[in-house]
Amino acid sequence: MSVNMLYPEYEIIRNEDRCITCRVCERQCANDVHQLISGTNRMTSDESKCVNCQRCVSLCPTRALKIVKTNNTYKENANWRAQTIREIYRQADSGGVLLSSMGNPENYPVYFDRMLLNASQVTNPSIDPLREPMETKVFLGAKPQSIERDHNGRLINNLSPFLTLSMPVMFSAMSYGSISYNAHECLARAAETLGIYYNTGEGGLHEDLYQYGKHTVVQVASGRFGVHPDYLNAGAAIEIKMGQGAKPGIGGHLPGSKIVGDISRTRMIPEHSDAISPAPHHDIYSIEDLRQLVYSLKEATQYQKPVIVKIAAVHNVSAIASGIARSGADIIAIDGFRGGTGAAPTRIRDHVGIPIELALASVDQRLRDEGIRDRVSIIAGGSIRSSADVVKAVALGADCVYIGTAALLAMGCHLCRSCHAGRCNWGIATQVPDLVKRLNPEIGYKRLVSLMSAWQHEIKEMMGGMGINSIESLKGNRLMLRGIDLNQKELEILNIKHAGE
Ligand code: SF4
Ligand code: SF4
Repeated sequence: MSVNMLYPEYEIIRNEDRCITCRVCERQCANDVHQLISGTNRMTSDESKCVNCQRCVSLCPTRALKIVKTNNTYKENANWRAQTIREIYRQADSGGVLLSSMGNPENYPVYFDRMLLNASQVTNPSIDPLREPMETKVFLGAKPQSIERDHNGRLINNLSPFLTLSMPVMFSAMSYGSISYNAHECLARAAETLGIYYNTGEGGLHEDLYQYGKHTVVQVASGRFGVHPDYLNAGAAIEIKMGQGAKPGIGGHLPGSKIVGDISRTRMIPEHSDAISPAPHHDIYSIEDLRQLVYSLKEATQYQKPVIVKIAAVHNVSAIASGIARSGADIIAIDGFRGGTGAAPTRIRDHVGIPIELALASVDQRLRDEGIRDRVSIIAGGSIRSSADVVKAVALGADCVYIGTAALLAMGCHLCRSCHAGRCNWGIATQVPDLVKRLNPEIGYKRLVSLMSAWQHEIKEMMGGMGINSIESLKGNRLMLRGIDLNQKELEILNIKHAGE
């Protein structure tokens, strides 16, 4: 059986009365779905190629198109879902590992949706953010254990290097290669305008973007692509990627077809060679080894840059985080199992790891219990979808959050989850020059700034409602959260009370 014999997942409905045969859909679809029927004035569609990216629907000038999920179905079976059957057919056909993009779409509990925020009523009155100052500024890095003074009583600056953010949100790691140059430019410019940071991911830093270094986190992953002294010194912080939420425990693979031109130069590998990051760092097998790398990177940057260690949220995450806090890292980034990616084996993406909410709560609690919470800041990532998720993450103990998918959506992504195919119709997850041009950096950058500005307003409103005027007072303030529809164990791990209590 060939994959093409599978009934298409989507149906394209074209309203013939509205269609003016302008052929915009044909020109805009990189998957060759639409075509003029030769010798006629009518269009046709090959639905087997449709990934439901919504490009044609969005750009059709007469709203003649609609994409719907097919209602063709296999015989009802609660155990063997249609998706499971289709995947078996695909693997029987190809013999290959199933690949997917973006985050885990399976129906696991979303704990952010099972937590409710507090609001002040009579005592401890709420604050109107339009009239009162509200502080959303965040500092990331190790906090000094005590205040020190010299013999004249003057304060000694014993601060470790830190990052200053105007709000508790950063753009998460997305490599140049997995996303386009234009997408990286949007993120870099938006980070600068907003006073936050974006992250190079593991693909190195294009020379044009060095100018945004003060708002860049440069990543060092197991493949060490594009890592050299200038790169390390160009960023405001360095992130060691030990793991990522979308594919915990495995490495990365960017196919040779995407390693072209500037990408090959920036990654410092030959054109058309596969960029394979090994699953482990081959020099890290213990916390002591990690410590060596943390201090090598600090040494290489004259102890001027904070070092972030990024891990995937997995079992025993709090013990792992405790070790990282003792390794000399300044910041721990924890990536939950809903985190997005350009390409991951489907089984790993959908079945490995744990939700960020549980991981974050247990890490924050463990570091507090061990008296080392001030040694590190915590960044939480893995499907932060709104300002409410940001506020809940901070109340659970995060200093700030990483957003990836939300930033891509702001730039035009329609979550078709086909990034691994490299033909993103929105110019984001592609290196095809004609497709890359579709993302206008000026527009993409402005949309990111707008999104973050809107979130900042909403964060202030929610804080004001709780009677809190500084994000620092919200951090780890779990009294501001109540659980709904959670069992006793979940409430215990989140360390929050149930709604009504
Ligand atoms: S873009 Fe719309 S109007 Fe133009 S050919 Fe396609 S369906 Fe018809
Ligand atoms: S980045 Fe592009 S290919 Fe990836 S999910 Fe979004 S629209 Fe689809």
